[in-house]
Amino acid sequence: MTATVIDGKAFAARVRDKVAVHVGRLKADHGITPGLAVVLVGEDPASQVYVRSKGKQTVEVGMKSVEHRLDEDTSEVDLLGLIDQLNNDPEIHGILVQLPLPRHLDEDLVINSISPAKDVDGFHISNVGLLGTGQKSMVPCTPLGCLMMLREHHGSLSGMDAVVIGRSNIVGKPMAQLLLGESCTVTIAHSRTKDLPDVVRRADIVVAAVGRPEMVPGDWIKPGATVIDVGINRLDAPEKGEGKTKLVGDVDYDSCAKVAGAITPVPGGVGPMTIACLLANTVTACCRANGLEEPEGLTV
Ligand code: NAD
Repeated sequence: MTATVIDGKAFAARVRDKVAVHVGRLKADHGITPGLAVVLVGEDPASQVYVRSKGKQTVEVGMKSVEHRLDEDTSEVDLLGLIDQLNNDPEIHGILVQLPLPRHLDEDLVINSISPAKDVDGFHISNVGLLGTGQKSMVPCTPLGCLMMLREHHGSLSGMDAVVIGRSNIVGKPMAQLLLGESCTVTIAHSRTKDLPDVVRRADIVVAAVGRPEMVPGDWIKPGATVIDVGINRLDAPEKGEGKTKLVGDVDYDSCAKVAGAITPVPGGVGPMTIACLLANTVTACCRANGLEEPEGLTV
């Protein structure tokens, strides 16, 4: 069997198109422009790339993009002051604080100071609780993107066995909650899981969010299963030339693609969906803030 490739890049473009249409309607019918504020503290190079890309895509779909770049040694009081200002700014509907934060800042405190209604990353403890109890919430972007792709590929996920490898607060745990919400039978595997290959072999859906390059080989995959690879790992690629690197996922693509029914590639799978879902969450937050109907298909 050769797996169907789930094209996250193309799917993300369709999500952005939907967002842009809805933004156009909000502007034309209500005079409202959704606004996203991104706060970056420090000089982390990867974070700078993400923030630039988020800002660019926000503008491309017609939304207002505001970037706050703060010095590495910004105090907690100053950061909380900025978040308070953004919480109270009626033109800002989504606030994202780029993680990781410098060590001297308390990440939980900072995230929980964002108004839950504007928490487009879905990391605020209120949103975590709402998601966990099956209520309307802001859903973390990466798991939301994974779920959108799974729903599009399968339609109903009800009754399927799903294994999520990784239990982080930003990917593994919310992913498991979302799959539970779809009536999957969900197993969360992690670094202490016994017999991981056998656990994974039971799965109709495997979501790998570990951060270990090509850790999952094809012989862990049940024939026909759907494999969603969240991992983004940069490896040296001397075969491409001196100093060159390449991105690989947490699954060994070539061997898994021979066994799986469907698979997301890296790059071009989950990655592009994450920013598309951030834009989707911002439009959703804007609609909720204004008591307007939410766009269909952009949230759960
Ligand atoms: P994390 O380090 O917070 O969590 C990793 C999890 O993997 C932990 O829960 C740990 O228990 C588990 N784990 C570690 N070693 C394991 C092993 N040998 N067997 C089984 N489980 C093991 O990572 P994260 O933030 O959840 O990110 C995971 C991966 O997803 C990383 O590669 C990250 O870069 C990527 N990521 C991608 C996106 C995206 O937009 N595509 C977004 C977020 C994270």
